[in-house]
Amino acid sequence: MDLRYTEEEEHFRDELRSWLSSTLPDVPPLPADHTDLVARRAYDTAWQARLHEAGYAGIHWPAEFGGRGSTPTEHLIFLEETERAGAPYVGVNFVGQLHAGPTLIAEATDEQRATHLAPILRGDHVWCQGFSEPGAGSDLASLATRAVDDGDDYVVTGQKIWTSFAQVADYCELLVRTDTEVPKHKGITWIIMPMDLPGIEIRPIETALGSGEFAEMFLDEVRIPKVNRVGDENDGWRVTNVTFSFERGTAFISEVISSQRLLADLARVAQKVTRRSGTAWDDMGIRRELGVLDAELDALWSLTKRNVSQAQRTGSVGPGGSVFKLAYADVRKRMADLAEQILGRAGLAIGDTLDLSDMDHVAERLYTLTLTIAAGTSEIQRNIVGERLLGLPRGDR
Ligand SMILES: Cc1cc2nc3c(=O)[nH]c(=O)nc-3n(C[C@H](O)[C@H](O)[C@H](O)COP(=O)(O)OP(=O)(O)OC[C@H]3O[C@@H](n4cnc5c(N)ncnc54)[C@H](O)[C@@H]3O)c2cc1C
Repeated sequence: MDLRYTEEEEHFRDELRSWLSSTLPDVPPLPADHTDLVARRAYDTAWQARLHEAGYAGIHWPAEFGGRGSTPTEHLIFLEETERAGAPYVGVNFVGQLHAGPTLIAEATDEQRATHLAPILRGDHVWCQGFSEPGAGSDLASLATRAVDDGDDYVVTGQKIWTSFAQVADYCELLVRTDTEVPKHKGITWIIMPMDLPGIEIRPIETALGSGEFAEMFLDEVRIPKVNRVGDENDGWRVTNVTFSFERGTAFISEVISSQRLLADLARVAQKVTRRSGTAWDDMGIRRELGVLDAELDALWSLTKRNVSQAQRTGSVGPGGSVFKLAYADVRKRMADLAEQILGRAGLAIGDTLDLSDMDHVAERLYTLTLTIAAGTSEIQRNIVGERLLGLPRGDR
């Protein structure tokens, strides 16, 4: 493991910094209304198109599929620098860019790749992920959405839930049950579902923050051509694990950088909030927790680099990705607890930070809850660490 950057990597960083500093001044701020997903799509895909023009789209995708063919370390540098510079986040493009696209590269037919990869890279097509169901989240293999074989098509009926950005997606990476007579992992198929087919109903779910990026997706005899299947029929669990291997890789790099910014802001707020005759900063307990969290974020950044170094060497992050996600979700939760302690009563109302801060620490507090659930809950990450790193016995499934 070598955590130092090479000369070429530093050169890549300089080039990227210079492009960001000349490009970002023209990029407008995020649309103010965070419930307007159509505006959000337009914003995120416009940024994707700019990345594409500049040769930074699909930074980690192989060059033969239109990407830049960068190493995991260059991908890390890209995510670090774009976050530090305040560039837009991948947003509605996250499924296409970060796991549907890479899954198609690994598993799809040449025709499927030719149809889908370039539009994802240009920001023309947005994808969503139709995996979770009301009765199948952590135990995803229990999924019940049924695909019935009918000539050249599958006829699909069922319900998906928590489908992020389904309302503005063009395609969905969909998991369906194609065989009910075999053990659950063996009867699943991974298919590409165009979102404009008859029989698809999207019902937005409003979050506690008032945003509506989640949706329920009801499928009523949706006719999906079999040519849209990725991998063999009933081999979808293996393909799903290919998708997860991308989902749990470099996904949280930008978050460590933004957490460092959030923590620095909290330290500033602590110096402004009045407490008796002084400020919250006078409280040694608060200063100690700020210091501990700062050190833990440093450690998480080193762990990220260690994981990326492993991915570069072996092609896979392995259980290190679960160690990171588990620890990161915990740090963010403790940062939210500390914010509440510092803000006092202002920590109870969304958007009301008494002009102490540019950041909404209350909204952040609600957001941190999602980190223990999305992309595998903390309990599931503990199971992975227990079984694959510590060699503990496998739990009942
Ligand atoms: C921000 C966000 C975005 C998401 N986006 C999408 C998306 O785009 N597409 C999509 O398909 N899904 C999406 N999801 C859904 C997500 O994948 C599921 O919420 C997650 O897999 C957990 O499933 P569940 O909600 O059904 O909870 P459950 O699996 O029912 O879990 C309930 C509780 O039981 C615990 N538990 C379950 N099994 C075990 C076990 N074996 N051992 C110990 N504890 C266990 C869990 O940890 C949890 O605390 C998203 C979720 C979030 C929060």
